[in-house]
This record gives sequence, structure tokens and C-alpha cells, in this order.
Amino acid sequence: MHLSKLFETQGESSLKKNGSTRKLVLKKQIFSILYLEEQKTIADLCGPVAVSIPTMTRIMHELMDEGWVIELGAGESRGGRRPVFYGLNPSVRYILGIEMTKRYTRINVFDLQNRPLGDTLQIDIELNKAPDTFEILKGEIDKFIVKYDLDKNRILGAGVCIPGLINKKSNINYSYPNLGNKPLDVIFSELLDIPAYVEHDTKTMALGESWFGLARNKSNVLCLNVGSGIGLGMIMNGELYQGFSGFSGEFGHIQIDSDGELCDCGKIGCLETVASGSAIVAKAKSKIGAGKNSIIKKLVNDDIEKINLPVIIKAAHQGDQYAIELIEESGGYLAWGMAILIHLLNPELIIIGGDMAGAGNLLSDPVKQKLNKYTINRIRQDTTIYISELKEHAGLLGTIPVVMTNLLSNEPNINNHNNPVQI
Ligand SMILES: [Zn+2]
Repeated sequence: MHLSKLFETQGESSLKKNGSTRKLVLKKQIFSILYLEEQKTIADLCGPVAVSIPTMTRIMHELMDEGWVIELGAGESRGGRRPVFYGLNPSVRYILGIEMTKRYTRINVFDLQNRPLGDTLQIDIELNKAPDTFEILKGEIDKFIVKYDLDKNRILGAGVCIPGLINKKSNINYSYPNLGNKPLDVIFSELLDIPAYVEHDTKTMALGESWFGLARNKSNVLCLNVGSGIGLGMIMNGELYQGFSGFSGEFGHIQIDSDGELCDCGKIGCLETVASGSAIVAKAKSKIGAGKNSIIKKLVNDDIEKINLPVIIKAAHQGDQYAIELIEESGGYLAWGMAILIHLLNPELIIIGGDMAGAGNLLSDPVKQKLNKYTINRIRQDTTIYISELKEHAGLLGTIPVVMTNLLSNEPNINNHNNPVQI
């Protein structure tokens, strides 16, 4: 969808009057600036869109009449009259965020100031059970829309965050053939009757970190998603890195142990088989089942099958020696892999996110310690390691840039026109 089309309907009468599509492009540019930079005076806006103050004043009044823009109040005087700031009306349009994982899906709707409309809804649906999954998802989203009294036409787009091997050219998810063989954005656009934009889960988390988290205003950041698997989202030179066909970031499948365990991917001894949440849960089940002493056993009331990652992390935070050792060991293997990334890519920041991020320092301390062992110090010292501050929210928040970068980038630029601007 082209964002300037949005203004076509509302600005139709004035458009017919002057017969110019240029104004739609100008309005889109103003929308983009106000969305990304929040508030501006008319004088601030004139430079970036290259129009005069009277023209800008006229367009801003139209945008206010159409409900897009609101006056935010007067700022500090710069020597004359106090300038008036304008911003987007945050509730003129919304963004629907859908974060799908193998086991559950989270949903929320965000306004144009990126604020959630309500509590995030989490539903337990399994991704590999589509098309039933789709039916449930559609039903829940419809209920959400009714609950918040939203007009579907006012939803700019749905951002969908989904795991799997996704080819960015065909937009097909090869890990979940049951999703169908149409491009993912088509599948979700048809299902929801809303323009949908789909991105890989870890890449979406990296976008979330880049817009709202520790990677904000940073250009070279690696975001690790350590949960049931291990993924990598890369912000390189300020852009999300996709690779040739979108398969970049399969960090969990580099081989660590040539005699190791069989991985889900079919290979042997992948990083995921020793360092992921699933790996340490499997290990804890086996060792505690065989008599290993740990408070994990008490936390699951002696039901070994109930051991999961949150329980292990909880035990570690309570000082359980075995749980701490499990997380330390995972951190050691992660550092082994991260050393390769640091030597190869020289990142400014590595953010550890995903379910394992709940372990906090219990994970990042052994990672840092082992990195000192595995990396060349001169390179290592330029990379800071952080645990994600957004934690489990990074994926859902990342659906906002998934929608907005698609909408804002998919536009003709007024500055590319050689003709003078006529309104
Ligand atoms: Zn593997």
C-alpha cells in the first residue's frame, strides 16, 4: 500500500480542485516526519519538504481539518512570537501487532505514538496447527477490535512476527508448510482483511530493539534471541540485514560439537543443542530425574516433566547452584559463538534477548568472562554486551517498525521531482 493513498480519500475534494497529486506526496512527507520526530513547528517542516511557510500553513490546516494533525501548544520563544508545535493525532490511525511463536501468539494495537491500546492478549495456539490456528487468530483479533471499538479501516497495517526459515524473495515460510504456499503477507492480508507485513521473529525483535530499546540510535548492533532456539537479528549500518534471500541470522545452527546431539535442523552438535533454553531444559530433566540435587525439583513439585526454562531461571535467581551452572554453561557456549560474530562483524553492541534474557547477569557475566578468553582483546573491547531491557516485549513492539518502515519507505519522494512544487 502507498501511504499517500491514505490522504487521497480525505483530500479528494481539494485534490479535484487543483488536480495535483503532489500535495498527497507532501502530506505523506509531513505524516512521516511527524510520526518519526513527534512534534514540529510549521517553520521546522518547510525545510525538509521544500515548500514556503504560506504553503505549509495551508497544507497543515487541511491536515487538521481532515483529523490527521493536532496543535500541541506553544514552545519557547526564539526571540519573537512563541512557535506553535504540531503533531499527529495519535488516534487517527492504528497499527495491529501480532507476535506468533511456536506455542502462543500475542496481540495488541498501537496508536501513532506507539502506545498500546490495552493489555497484550496472549492466546495459546500452536503455529504448526494451521489452518485452525488462523481461524482462532482471526476470531481473537475480531474480538479485540470490537473490545476497543476500532474501525478496521483505521488500522494502517498488521505487523506479523513469525518464526521459521522465511525466504524474503518469495515470502514463503519453509519451516511451516502448513501455513500454505502463498506469500506470507498475502496469507495474513487475506485472513485479516487488513494490509499485513510479515517479518521473521528474531529480525522483528532486532527492529524492536532498534526503535525502542538499547539499539536506538546505534548503527551496528547484533540482537540474539535465546529461547527454545537461538536466532540472530543484525542491524548493520543502520539497516536490518536480510542476506541474499532473507536466511541470514541462523546463528543457532553453527556447529559447536561434531560428536554432539542431533539438532532439529538435521545437523549434529549445533549451538542450539548445547546453549538454547530447550537444551538446558532437556539436560535438567535428565540430570534431576537421575537424582541431581536442586531446588528445581521442589519448584515443580517433583514432576520432572514440568521443568521448563522459567523454572530453571527462577531457581537460579533463588541461588540454586545447579540452575546457575546450567545457565553458566549455556553462556559459555554462547560466548564461543559470539566470539565468531565479534571477530567477523565488529559490532558496537550485542543485545541478548529472548526467554533466556530473564537470567540477567547470571547469563551475561559468564558470557563476558568467556568472551575475554575467546576473543582478541582489541576487537572485544569495542563491543558492549547487554541483556535486553525490552525483554519479552521486543518482538511485539518490533511489529510497529515492520509496518511503518514498509509504509514510509514505499513512497515516491517529492525531492525526486524536477518540476517545482505546485499546490
Ligand atoms: Zn541445527
